[in-house]
Amino acid sequence: MQIAIASGKGGTGKTTIATSLAKSLVGSHKVHYLDCDVEAPNGHLFLHPDIQTQKDAIIRIPQIDTNLCTLCGRCVEVCQFHALAQTADEIVLFPELCHGCGSCTWNCPEDAITEIANPIGIIESGITPDGINFCHGVLKISEPMPTPIIRQMRKYKSLSRDSVVILDAPPGASCSVVETLRAVDYAILVTEPSPFGKHDLLQIFGILKDLKIPAGVIINRTDGHESDIEQLILEKQIPILMQIPFDKSIAAGIASGRTLVELQPEYRERFIAMFDFIESFLAVEQVC
Ligand code: SF4
Ligand code: SF4
Repeated sequence: MQIAIASGKGGTGKTTIATSLAKSLVGSHKVHYLDCDVEAPNGHLFLHPDIQTQKDAIIRIPQIDTNLCTLCGRCVEVCQFHALAQTADEIVLFPELCHGCGSCTWNCPEDAITEIANPIGIIESGITPDGINFCHGVLKISEPMPTPIIRQMRKYKSLSRDSVVILDAPPGASCSVVETLRAVDYAILVTEPSPFGKHDLLQIFGILKDLKIPAGVIINRTDGHESDIEQLILEKQIPILMQIPFDKSIAAGIASGRTLVELQPEYRERFIAMFDFIESFLAVEQVC
């Protein structure tokens, strides 16, 4: 089963939930934790994995053989990302705009294009002291495209159906979030009772509706002002999976690199119950 932890807004406690869910389930399931926030991964600070493998994340970018190129301009025409431009005597590539889609290679009538590897970051994997299979991607500074790393992370390990794969999504509602959510079985949305939390939750609801992914919400840092956000979630007919009250001692503990279930072990049972609810919900969905 693949479960994404997403938030829309940054800083709502997504990694707090993802790491604590992983730690709660690892005693009874084979758990994979994938930190897909490749621009600022931080799951390792809480799970302390022993990194055992490291490999380059690459995209394949075009290299043009000027001896074969007739400057017909077809590659420039088909590039949807404006990564190629034609001058009087050459085709110029802007590698930072190239998505490695291969359209130019495919369409070149002279077979003048070959593809070469362009490293955009690294993917590291290993195991945590409590046995969670850990993987995260780290985008190179100045590289603008996180999605190819996320795509490669998802292929990196054989993620069997009997494992629980927890994908810690990037914040926001951009294409890297869509890439993380693609093909997951369920999404846990983490929000907070603030106008920004409400606004961004609405955005992510829209994405999930388009992708047809069922979801539940955790309201983090409740402080007695959550009726607005509860109303919104109710209107969307989405279950509230858990509420976590604002607590300075939790905030201080998390800031020092401890997970919620380490700080308050009673949450372990709550995470297990939440997972059981999701599992039962998906089993009923499958039957229907
Ligand atoms: S499509 Fe091929 S031949 Fe035409 S301009 Fe591009 S590289 Fe040159
Ligand atoms: S691989 Fe795709 S994005 Fe990159 S230059 Fe070719 S057509 Fe454009």
